[in-house]
Amino acid sequence: MLFNKVAIIGIGLIGSSLARVLKRNELCREVVVFDTNPDYMRKAVELKIADAYAPSAAEASKGADLVVLSTPVGVYGKLAEEIMPVLKPGAIITDVGSIKKFAIEQILPHIPPQSGVIYIPGHPVAGTEKSGPEAGFYELFEGRWCILTPVENTPQDALQKVAEMWKSAKMRIDFMSPEHHDKVMAAVSHLPHLIAFSIVGTVADLEGYEQQEIIKYSASGFRDFTRIAGSDPTMWRDILLNNKTTILELIQRFVEDLIALERNIRWDEGDKLFELFARNRKIRKEVIEAKQDDPEILKLFQPGRKEDNKLAK
Ligand code: NAP
Repeated sequence: MLFNKVAIIGIGLIGSSLARVLKRNELCREVVVFDTNPDYMRKAVELKIADAYAPSAAEASKGADLVVLSTPVGVYGKLAEEIMPVLKPGAIITDVGSIKKFAIEQILPHIPPQSGVIYIPGHPVAGTEKSGPEAGFYELFEGRWCILTPVENTPQDALQKVAEMWKSAKMRIDFMSPEHHDKVMAAVSHLPHLIAFSIVGTVADLEGYEQQEIIKYSASGFRDFTRIAGSDPTMWRDILLNNKTTILELIQRFVEDLIALERNIRWDEGDKLFELFARNRKIRKEVIEAKQDDPEILKLFQPGRKEDNKLAK
């Protein structure tokens, strides 16, 4: 067993998926949760993915060996400040935030070096557009990458334990600096989300089009953008505002490339269009080969699925 008590603060998609892993793989004796949504906390205990819930983040964290912050990143600082006084020396705080520099800036200043509390920033690069404990599932992390961005003087045994937890969820582990993490994620996650948010807004607001027809024929492409654009608004507001510099640079680059495409179409430059589309097809093939696209698996794990019933027996 890796831990005695684990506290999960924020029992949404990521927190509840990790809770399922902790319980099913018997990685700890006890999981205690806190969430601002009382229905979510009750649901977690009902599903038996948590042993108990607490009235505050501090209560949940008392005596914990590991505290996992899995709320939107915007509240990390407030939560770290609140739980610090109840943490014992040797306790580990980890987070799952999608941006790492901001997460570290929010959490680390609340941890005095003499407290003996260890902070290990992490990002399991796995998710869906859904939220809440019923949206989580045991297999969410399987085959995906977990990026750890350790701060200076991190004890190796604590780092190892957090890495073991994610390995148990069948994740592959990478280590990098928070700055590099945020740069890579801006390209592979933040920009694509931003474009989806923008496109869905544009198409939905188009004048002279029947809204019903847009929904009816959405399978021809629009649908796939709505899946990404249907992601949690709080989470994405926090990510985009707090990785601002990198994202603004990428938006500029994207707008330039879009204008180039506009020119290609205007001047009938079919060879240029073909060249770009052919390159994109190759990239798509590489994503599939790297097993980073398996939407079929997501369809198997809907609320009320077998695996939860098994835990709830
Ligand atoms: P989620 O399903 O919305 O879960 C977050 C939970 O935290 C919600 O139940 C929310 O309650 C609760 N919460 C908000 N403020 C809180 C507070 N102050 N104290 C306690 N609970 C609070 O979101 P998620 O998708 O699991 O994302 C959580 C974290 O994972 C984010 O930091 C995100 O960057 C990271 N992440 C997400 C993905 C993804 O694809 N979804 C992937 C990797 C990492 P309310 O709903 O009542 O606000």
